[in-house]
Amino acid sequence: MASAARFLSTARLARPTISTNVARQARRGYASPAAAGGPNYGLILSLAGVTGIGAYAYLQYNPAAKAEISAKAHELEAKAEDKVKRVQSEVDAANQGTGSYAALIKDSWTPFTLTNIEPYNHNTAIYRFSFGEDGQDKVSGAEVASALLVRSPQGEGEVKDDKGKPVIRPYTPVSSNEQKGHIDLMIKEYKDGKLTPYMSSMKPGQQLLFKGPILKFKYEPNTFDRGLAVAGGSGITPMYQLISHSLNLPEDKTKWTLVFSNVTEKDILLRKEWDELAKQHPDRLDVKYVVDKAPWGWKGETGFITPTMISKLFPRTPESNEKVKAFICGPPPQVKSLAGPKDGPRQGELLGAFKELGYTQDEVFKF
Ligand SMILES: Cc1cc2nc3c(=O)[nH]c(=O)nc-3n(C[C@H](O)[C@H](O)[C@H](O)COP(=O)(O)OP(=O)(O)OC[C@H]3O[C@@H](n4cnc5c(N)ncnc54)[C@H](O)[C@@H]3O)c2cc1C
Repeated sequence: MASAARFLSTARLARPTISTNVARQARRGYASPAAAGGPNYGLILSLAGVTGIGAYAYLQYNPAAKAEISAKAHELEAKAEDKVKRVQSEVDAANQGTGSYAALIKDSWTPFTLTNIEPYNHNTAIYRFSFGEDGQDKVSGAEVASALLVRSPQGEGEVKDDKGKPVIRPYTPVSSNEQKGHIDLMIKEYKDGKLTPYMSSMKPGQQLLFKGPILKFKYEPNTFDRGLAVAGGSGITPMYQLISHSLNLPEDKTKWTLVFSNVTEKDILLRKEWDELAKQHPDRLDVKYVVDKAPWGWKGETGFITPTMISKLFPRTPESNEKVKAFICGPPPQVKSLAGPKDGPRQGELLGAFKELGYTQDEVFKF
């Protein structure tokens, strides 16, 4: 808060100082008489006029130079716009009371530098991206629960789709929104995918472009009594952001059940972290793992998630007045079978298992 207040007070104080200086200079420029023996303004102006006409004629007959100047002007304009957006995002972050400036800019791509790739399992790793030397005091600026957009740098080697358009993908940081100086992304590599093979081939020091955040669901503590998070595979990252944030809020009493489905046990992401959170908050978090292919002696649930499995793992008493909210994030076929497909960025009608169980549209959120 102190740095935010400092920024705002500097911003407020800076404006009159700048305008006073400009006004002073303007007054001096127009009101001061020319010193005796000083420059001959008449001659200078007529020479400038001749030079101006010459430059105009040169540009008229030299379209290449004209195009170059126009491109340069656009570039400078874009840079100025970027600067304005950057300052605006910092003011926004300060106004939100995050106490730190945001590294992400809502509608402008910002480069962050890869510092480390920590392998997690056979196809997933945690990627750390630094906000740079002057960003060590910055937070990402993402509220819970938000995603951000990622693309490769423009120019040679840029990852493009079949139509030649840049490939842009959303990701959910697994680092806390209060983390300063960097973000961590947990990314599952698809060998036949577009962006993730590029990312997994990156070396520390290389950069990706980031934009955002995209607020998916604005979490407020104690707005429901019990939350159910149903995740499949790498769909676990928004649930980790949401639930770890809720558990860390001292005033929050919301209880959580996580139902996390994977193909095999070795695909379970953040298992150590989930088990640790469940141990730290036994009265607030219950974790249930589900696998398609169970190993010998597996004590959890097996197979696809069904309405019967949901009501067994997250029972509801119809006569109780408790408020519940279910969150779903997983591969599109799983989302469809549990709650109906999403309609692009919109939620789409509630269908599938949750509808069958009597949940209302408001009680289910699809990431
Ligand atoms: C809000 C949100 C947050 C996300 N957060 C994370 C996260 O934190 N971590 C994470 O790992 N992922 C996350 N994802 C998924 C991520 O955005 C990418 O979809 C994923 O990384 C794959 O990208 P890719 O370009 O490598 O693969 P893609 O090129 O998208 O391909 C992925 C797979 O789909 C197949 N495929 C592609 N197009 C088709 C098609 N038309 N028909 C059938 N199959 C097709 C490919 O063959 C491949 O197997 C998130 C997604 C969303 C929507």
